[in-house]
Amino acid sequence: MKVQILFDKDTMAKDLRIGWGVSFLIDEVVLFDTGENGRWLLENMGNLKVNIDKIMAVVISHDHWDHTGGLWELLENREELKVYACPNFSLSFKRKVERLKGKLIETERVTEIVENIFVTGEITGEYKGEYMPEQALIVRTEKGLTIVTGCSHPGIIKIVGQVKKDFPNMKIYLVFGGFHLIDKNKQEVKFIAEKLKEMGIEKVGPTHCTGYDAQMIFREIYKDDFIFIKTGQTFEI
Ligand SMILES: [Zn+2]
Ligand SMILES: [Zn+2]
Repeated sequence: MKVQILFDKDTMAKDLRIGWGVSFLIDEVVLFDTGENGRWLLENMGNLKVNIDKIMAVVISHDHWDHTGGLWELLENREELKVYACPNFSLSFKRKVERLKGKLIETERVTEIVENIFVTGEITGEYKGEYMPEQALIVRTEKGLTIVTGCSHPGIIKIVGQVKKDFPNMKIYLVFGGFHLIDKNKQEVKFIAEKLKEMGIEKVGPTHCTGYDAQMIFREIYKDDFIFIKTGQTFEI
């Protein structure tokens, strides 16, 4: 299956918008998060020749502006789009989706949304002392599972642990997205990177709120199995 990086903090192409937050397109049909700005997201989609009418569902990892920012303009351009959210997202988020005629679907537990693409459902997390529910995306291919994360506020180890419980005996090929390690020290990051290796994760693509220093630690530990996620990039899983 094809993964396209539609929005993130780095890019290889000069004509693409970059910024805070992420937006990844899976197999041309499922969009995971929408970055910080709708106009920028639509601009990148245009430049990357994304067929917006082919998108069947948008999965929002968590209710933070840098992940929901592009959703509103997308809904204005695409009526009746399915929006997967956690049950404990804010009321204002849910009302806004409904006002813009999105089809809100609240996922409590692991759910298959199109063939071989799943959401984890709500995982308990915390951000600055407040409850912050979050969900990740799971893609099942011949290579194994790929886990896609937004900010990983519940903790990347906890998210991977939950997926392992829901998909026992399945190999995890890749984990990519925000790992939220920006405020962790070198030892803590090293511990987490090694722990993921121990858990059998073959490749990693930490980006966004992982922080640049932590990305480099992952690169040191994962070597050729480290993916530097950049806007405009496409890869197969
Ligand atoms: Zn974020
Ligand atoms: Zn966040």
